[in-house]
Amino acid sequence: MSFFLLSLLLMLVFLYLLQKSYNEKTVEEKLKLVQNQCSILSNQILVNQFTIESTQDNLNVEIDQLANVWEGRILVIDSKYKIVKDTYTIDQDNYILYDEAILVMRGEKDRNIRMVDDYAEIVQPIINADKMISGVMIATVSMKDLEETNSFIAGQAQVMLVLFSILALIAAFIICRVSVKDTKRLNRSITEMGEGTLGKLEMKARFNENRQLIESFNVLLEQMRVLEDSRQEFVSNVSHELKTPITSMKVLADSLLMQEDVPAEMYREFMSDMVEEIDRENKIINDLLTLVKMDKKAAQMNVQPVNINALLELLLKRIKPLAAKRNIEVVFESFREVVGEVDEVKLSLALSNLIENAVKYNNDGGNVHVSLNADHKFFYIKVQDNGVGIPEECQSQVFERFYRVDKARSRETGGTGLGLAITRNAILVHKGAIKLYSQVGEGTTFTVRIPLKYVN
Ligand code: ADP
Repeated sequence: MSFFLLSLLLMLVFLYLLQKSYNEKTVEEKLKLVQNQCSILSNQILVNQFTIESTQDNLNVEIDQLANVWEGRILVIDSKYKIVKDTYTIDQDNYILYDEAILVMRGEKDRNIRMVDDYAEIVQPIINADKMISGVMIATVSMKDLEETNSFIAGQAQVMLVLFSILALIAAFIICRVSVKDTKRLNRSITEMGEGTLGKLEMKARFNENRQLIESFNVLLEQMRVLEDSRQEFVSNVSHELKTPITSMKVLADSLLMQEDVPAEMYREFMSDMVEEIDRENKIINDLLTLVKMDKKAAQMNVQPVNINALLELLLKRIKPLAAKRNIEVVFESFREVVGEVDEVKLSLALSNLIENAVKYNNDGGNVHVSLNADHKFFYIKVQDNGVGIPEECQSQVFERFYRVDKARSRETGGTGLGLAITRNAILVHKGAIKLYSQVGEGTTFTVRIPLKYVN
């Protein structure tokens, strides 16, 4: 409808302007012609020195004929304001009192053209060879003939308008049908997809815009698919991880049950193993809960100005006894005092995971080097160790949930495979970044960058 109405409006304006300019052009042409003929007559009148009636020559007849052709009237006035020729004869030999004629005669106006109803009136001076005004000619010309052509053209324009309206209506209808068809098909495909599994939208659209829409939709579907895959993988990983300690506990319990007269020491040993498994289960559940909380992002951020130097010193103090057991030296290097707007609990968790890993995956007698620096926008923490290192092919995966390079070692040290995932999430909710550099046998360095001012 909009397309149709708009094209109709445009066509109307176009035809109106066309007709108007055509009218103006024809009027202009006719007036030019009349003026030319008046100039020719003026020359002849000058030659005859304004004696038109008395000579009864061709000139008189010519003027009458011309007035006839124009369906109008011609008046010739001499320099004494006397009407020497009136094709209507009523004002013949009278003196002219018409203002416009007097103004032109005095040279106060070059020429006067006036439109009255269907007539045009031209008042034009008769100029002699010395460029002096020796009289005035008034020609009244009928414009009715132009009106006839104009109304004929208006009729034609109306026919064109009707034809164009029909064409516009058909075009509007076709465009509407085609575009709606695309949209309907798209809608149908999306509905079908909603009922089934997430696939890919295989639909050929006619319009570029719809094609782009389908492309964007497919990108979205792909993202959803990846999300769904990772969700499923996560669920199966969780089940597996939670099952392992339970299976171990069951094996331990069963073996105790199957034997009769089990010695007290054995009970004690098996029980302490079971307690270990329960602790492990507990740790996995706690880590999972932490991760889930972290995923809820900024909503639960408790941001406060925190002295990062003091925070790191505290974390290192906690880890030092563990490190000392394995003769690992832990060093803290601070380049300046740093106060950052952070969630202390979340950041502590992130950093303690990094520091614990640096000790856990280190060799006995190794080193852990933690440094803190800042510029005007960010603070930077580096956790460096000279431990076992991470193979290059595993480096991109270590931040994934439950990923462990060496499963046995991780289990041995009580790892759940969730530590780095928690760390990365905690840093991301601070709008920070974490990077990893590592070489097998040489050691690992994690660098963390966090904005000093928290932006939501
Ligand atoms: P985990 O609970 O097993 O320590 P993380 O998510 O903390 O889980 O780490 C994932 C894996 O990345 C670890 O199992 C380990 O293989 C590797 N890793 C993490 N930190 C280090 C490090 N500093 N040096 C060597 N390997 C590391």
